[in-house]
Amino acid sequence: MKRVTAKWLKEPTLQSVFGIVAAAGGEARVVGGALRNTLLRVAVGDIDLATTLAPREIVKAFRTAGHPVYPTGIAHGTVTVSIHQNTYEITTLRQDIETDGRRAVVQFTDDWREDALRRDFTMNALYCDAAGKIYDYTNGYEDILRSRITFVGTPSVRIKEDYLRILRYFRFLSVFKQLKPDKAGLAACIKSKKNLRTLSAERIAREMFKLLQGENAVSVLRLMAKNGVLQNVVAHTDDFRTLSRLPQDAILRGYVLSKDPQGLREAWRLSNAQAKRIDDLLQHGAPSPTLRLSEQRRILYGMGLQAWRDSVLVARAKSRAPLTDGAWKRMLSLPSRWTMPTFPVSGRDLLDLGFTPGPDLGIRLKDLEQHWVASDFKPAKADLLERLKGDLNG
Ligand code: ATP
Ligand code: MG
Repeated sequence: MKRVTAKWLKEPTLQSVFGIVAAAGGEARVVGGALRNTLLRVAVGDIDLATTLAPREIVKAFRTAGHPVYPTGIAHGTVTVSIHQNTYEITTLRQDIETDGRRAVVQFTDDWREDALRRDFTMNALYCDAAGKIYDYTNGYEDILRSRITFVGTPSVRIKEDYLRILRYFRFLSVFKQLKPDKAGLAACIKSKKNLRTLSAERIAREMFKLLQGENAVSVLRLMAKNGVLQNVVAHTDDFRTLSRLPQDAILRGYVLSKDPQGLREAWRLSNAQAKRIDDLLQHGAPSPTLRLSEQRRILYGMGLQAWRDSVLVARAKSRAPLTDGAWKRMLSLPSRWTMPTFPVSGRDLLDLGFTPGPDLGIRLKDLEQHWVASDFKPAKADLLERLKGDLNG
């Protein structure tokens, strides 16, 4: 009998989930990512469960036990339960009875095998119970041991049910470095590549982000580009050299990969913070180690920590220098060696001096800050105010 031992399985809140479902006359098992990652020795993120109980029975069982329940995906049988700050997605066993490449009509079942057969890859179709006993209906265990990514069933058939599986195939290759593409799966993905264009931006973005964060992302992007898959997801550059010299960061990689980084905000539904990183990269020139230190400080002050780091990383990746180059490393560590000073003058100070409130005040303050920056942050508050007094009289 195959078993899994893992710290997350012993978590009392997860054991409560098993207990509550059993008390209600059903069974729950952990499925998918958590088990797969454990067997592949990768950190585990969310814990998803599958259950024989119908969604309304799950809702009732957890409400009765006093735990909040959220109908996060009730249409396809998923509810999220929260037990002492830990959340679990619980999905009723199901079969997809109608599919159109983008969404499915589902039918609930109490057959574990049916539920396994509707999943995308064998490594994602493993289950374990409260004691860690593994249930494997598709040979997923052996596939994982042999570093194989294998579609459940016939690849071309499974891809036509949901074209996102093409992208998930490449995402898993990117995230799990040890996996090797299989001929049949890869060929089927390539054959249906044009259908990626029919998927919603949200679904593409979620998979692309995970793909871009993967350890093996650059090889996988190359593989996708070589086979004409990638162009159906993003208008892309072929700057794989730069990509391979960047850290594992989806935004930096997306910025270099995309022919239209500005368009990513809309295309990939970026958060404001993510979009700002791209805007900053587009807006600021590339810093280079030929700049004097005082100049570097001035740029760092002007653009802020995150933008400095991002711009230096991209500029270094594009340069001819080896990644071990000391001058570039010193640029990256500049923020830890130099604390950005705070501009000592405020609007309040100007009002106290007798300036009238209004937009003009803001402009004067900015001018003064620029003077202070250009003087290598040296002038003290008194000197700066002295300078303004001249303006007031004149
Ligand atoms: P992650 O670590 O990103 O959460 P995951 O494998 O758990 O990876 P989820 O998107 O959370 O991915 O999906 C949970 C499970 O649902 C998967 O392991 C897989 O069994 C199944 N699944 C998800 N998306 C699909 C899909 N498009 N087609 C078939 N099965 C899917
Ligand atoms: Mg998951």
